[in-house]
Amino acid sequence: MDSLDDRLTDSEIESPERRELIGNILRGGALLAASSSILAAAESLFPQEAEAQRSRAGNRSVQRVEHDYPLNTSHQLPANRTRTRPSTDYIILHNTQGNFQGDLNVIKKHAKANYLVNKDGMVYSIVRPEKWANHAGRSIWEGREWLSDYSIGIEIVGYNFEPLTDRQYTSLKPLVEELQKRYGIKDREVLAHFQIAYDVNHWTNWKKGRGRRKDGINIDWVKLGINHRTDDPDVKAGRVIPDEFLEAILAREERRKGIFGIGREDPETRVTEVLGPNIIEGKRTAWTIAGDDYNQPTTFYVAPNNTITAGNQISDWGAIATGTKVYTNTDLATVIRTARPIITLAQGETVWSNVQSAFNDATTCYVLPDSKDVIKGNKANFNRIGPGTRIVLDCTGPYEIRRDRGPSRYAGREYNTDNTIYIFPNGEMKTGNQIPNFSTLPKETQILVRKK
Ligand SMILES: [Zn+2]
Repeated sequence: MDSLDDRLTDSEIESPERRELIGNILRGGALLAASSSILAAAESLFPQEAEAQRSRAGNRSVQRVEHDYPLNTSHQLPANRTRTRPSTDYIILHNTQGNFQGDLNVIKKHAKANYLVNKDGMVYSIVRPEKWANHAGRSIWEGREWLSDYSIGIEIVGYNFEPLTDRQYTSLKPLVEELQKRYGIKDREVLAHFQIAYDVNHWTNWKKGRGRRKDGINIDWVKLGINHRTDDPDVKAGRVIPDEFLEAILAREERRKGIFGIGREDPETRVTEVLGPNIIEGKRTAWTIAGDDYNQPTTFYVAPNNTITAGNQISDWGAIATGTKVYTNTDLATVIRTARPIITLAQGETVWSNVQSAFNDATTCYVLPDSKDVIKGNKANFNRIGPGTRIVLDCTGPYEIRRDRGPSRYAGREYNTDNTIYIFPNGEMKTGNQIPNFSTLPKETQILVRKK
């Protein structure tokens, strides 16, 4: 789409975001469903694309629909795929805990949401708004269970522990407003999945307990323009036991809005005790990090000694070592890449069992035992690579550190993280986060920089 991109650059529309938005609408084939102001801009900017979309739609007159967000209906499921919802009393917001393509496939296959909002702000209509979507699962709110029967589900692409993008907010706000108007839903009836989900298992002492889902802990309700409800009617009524972490999330929101919080324990402290990195430590458990994904085959636990175990292979949850990292909704190859910056080939292991098809990539670096020489995968003699060899994936370098060229020259802000690997003259290797003092690096230290 070079020509389109050229014209995006040449366009007279001032805001780059708006320009991008219009480009997205055209790429998504959703022009016919766009709002009139966007439509007019798109038609003047990209007359040919607009015309092409009109003719694909059978030269129908252009429909001007009342919404101000880019909408893609090309993945919408047939109307008879699910039943009509008995009533629509709530809007529930979710995080997908994944990436767009995988999310789209899963949501379509299982009719799991009415809408999916991608990071670029494109809104995908999947299950039609009036139809039942299987998004809330085991849930309770004001005594009513199985909230999928009473609510619209909107999935937001991304992870609980990262903020939504500005474009997601820009699209979500008018989408939620439109649905609120259409179904008469008040602000206090727009909720996050974490607020309504519950489970019964050993983490909740076999009672109905909150904490099953963490979806939506990252939503900034002020940005959404929603006067968000922060109390839990079912905890108050004794129907479910609270979850300490999720209570802290809500208390923090109240404190920030200046509603309550006086005389309470500081929720910021409680949140950060749990929210930090995905590492099991102190109050951070498999449950607080992964919720009901904790025992899934797509959740991986990387122990401090670098052994990797999938959630469905763990039976003794009390025995997980402090310092274990948790990766949800992923696969083994990705975990190996992210979790083990330096892979040391153990006796009896093969290169293949550690790095699989990356073994001969030009960005796979091998450092033989007691050596500081770096061999790239595309030039390696695999007969020489035996136990004790260190492997770094996705690496660039080696770069030699000198007095006038510090590590940040090559690694930028990553110089003190596990994305920068230091090779000392004696062949010892460390990651940037293992180095306490960068001013005393020995002469001829080299670095490898990992780019994912
Ligand atoms: Zn959810």
